[in-house]
Amino acid sequence: MTDCVFCRIVAGQIPSTRVYEDDDVLAFMDIGHVNPGHVLIAVKRHAENLCALEETQAAAIARASVRVARAIQAAFAPAGLSVYQANGKPAGQTVFHYHVHLVPRHEADGMQLTWPVKNPPREKLQEYAARIVERLPRAQG
Ligand code: AMP
Ligand code: ZN
Repeated sequence: MTDCVFCRIVAGQIPSTRVYEDDDVLAFMDIGHVNPGHVLIAVKRHAENLCALEETQAAAIARASVRVARAIQAAFAPAGLSVYQANGKPAGQTVFHYHVHLVPRHEADGMQLTWPVKNPPREKLQEYAARIVERLPRAQG
């Protein structure tokens, strides 16, 4: 038996409160609820993080995110909604099975993300961009 908690939820081996599913994803309530209506959308087939996703899984996550976000909006009418997704321990990931948080937001609700902005010169940005661009697949038309 796997020791991945989300694989076990997908397999029905441990309880969860489900809200949505299709062939590739399962959405369920986060037990560590930040605000009422906080939902996780996880891939069904285990993938540790964003870089490990198959593109069909990525598309399914995006489709489910829109559907569930609209339902949360209609059900709870939050003033805002944060989409949060962590990859790796330094980024705050605690369950190493790919998932996205949909968190309804309200003024002064205490959820915070510190954003230590640097303003590198344009040449630096170009250098960083080139490193990424040369490793990207060419767009398929
Ligand atoms: P992350 O820090 O992005 O990896 O988030 C993992 C999330 O999974 C946390 O918000 C936990 O509250 C949530 N979580 C962990 N175990 C369970 C579980 N058995 N059922 C529902 N949510 C869970
Ligand atoms: Zn897993």
